[in-house]
Amino acid sequence: MAAGRGAVLCPGAVRDPYEVLGVGRDATEAEVRAAFRRLGAEHHPDRRPGDADAAARFKELNAAYQTLSDPRRRAAWDRFGAKGVEAGFSATVDANLEGLFGDLLGRFGVRTGERGDLRRRLEIRFEEAVRGATRELTYEKTDLCTACRGDGAEPGSPVARCAACDGRGRVRFQQLPFPIAVERACSRCRGTGSLPARPCRSCSGSGLHTRAVTVEIEIPPGVESGSTRLVEGGGSRVRADRPAGDLEITIDVAPHPFFVRAGDDVRCAVPVTFACAALGGEIEIPTLEGKAKLRVPPATQPGTLLRLAGKGVPHRFRSGRGDQLVEVSVEIPTRLSERARALIEELGQELGEDVQPQQRTFLEKLRSWLG
Ligand SMILES: [Zn+2]
Ligand SMILES: [Zn+2]
Repeated sequence: MAAGRGAVLCPGAVRDPYEVLGVGRDATEAEVRAAFRRLGAEHHPDRRPGDADAAARFKELNAAYQTLSDPRRRAAWDRFGAKGVEAGFSATVDANLEGLFGDLLGRFGVRTGERGDLRRRLEIRFEEAVRGATRELTYEKTDLCTACRGDGAEPGSPVARCAACDGRGRVRFQQLPFPIAVERACSRCRGTGSLPARPCRSCSGSGLHTRAVTVEIEIPPGVESGSTRLVEGGGSRVRADRPAGDLEITIDVAPHPFFVRAGDDVRCAVPVTFACAALGGEIEIPTLEGKAKLRVPPATQPGTLLRLAGKGVPHRFRSGRGDQLVEVSVEIPTRLSERARALIEELGQELGEDVQPQQRTFLEKLRSWLG
């Protein structure tokens, strides 16, 4: 915020601050503050990117709050209206805004854009999600300049007192002709009171530069796609004298050629021959540990789910694992030899009207539906 840099209220455009904040004339200080917090959070420009009017609305709310939260200004408004406030108190409209909204926006989960938090995605293989893994992620972040370690001074160059604030780190300013002085952090030395005699050449004195860094991420067994890991302090620094923000990593689990996950169970479809489904047999199936044998019972119908207990994904927050579900699909041969055709015809005659379980259920349903 441009603290007090002549933020003069525009005469004629000043609305009644009670009306702006939606409070009564007799509202207490706490009520005024509560109204401002609620409306201020709602209309804060950071929450409404692209809304050109948000900044103006917010400024108006702020001005109203500055008037009503200060007993002297409030009294001036009550007696003389806008003129009374303009006459004596135009300098500090934006003064304590950052302090008030810094913690407020944090509580609303709104990023002020000042913390340097970063978000990245990390794609892992299906097997890594099942068994867990250690993965590296390389990304760009802004951190302290390695040449000057963040103080912005060319190595070996002395640090001099800031002339703008005379080494105090804070400056007082006054908007004449009114006898009101306000203090704010010195913008030249960013409140430190000192400046390098020669700025660091690597970072032009900012104390910061952007580079690629690599972090190691522990992927716990059983992690699900879309879950996040937080690396505290893994984000960027926006200023050399402030701590780095956090890095939030979203895990994307790549699809598997055989398996689809359903919670901690995994499903796969396995084709079996007509003969195997009818007579039963043993088939080879993929599992998360590699190949395995599975018994198919006689008269297995297409779509049957065969369950392999404990062959799924490890539970994330308790011991044990989910199951593997094998969906049986029965393949009908597409290219028949003369002999195969003759055998199937013979089979058809042999089975005749002796309908099968699914067909029987279907015919019963059809009959009752037709009435
Ligand atoms: Zn530097
Ligand atoms: Zn200074």
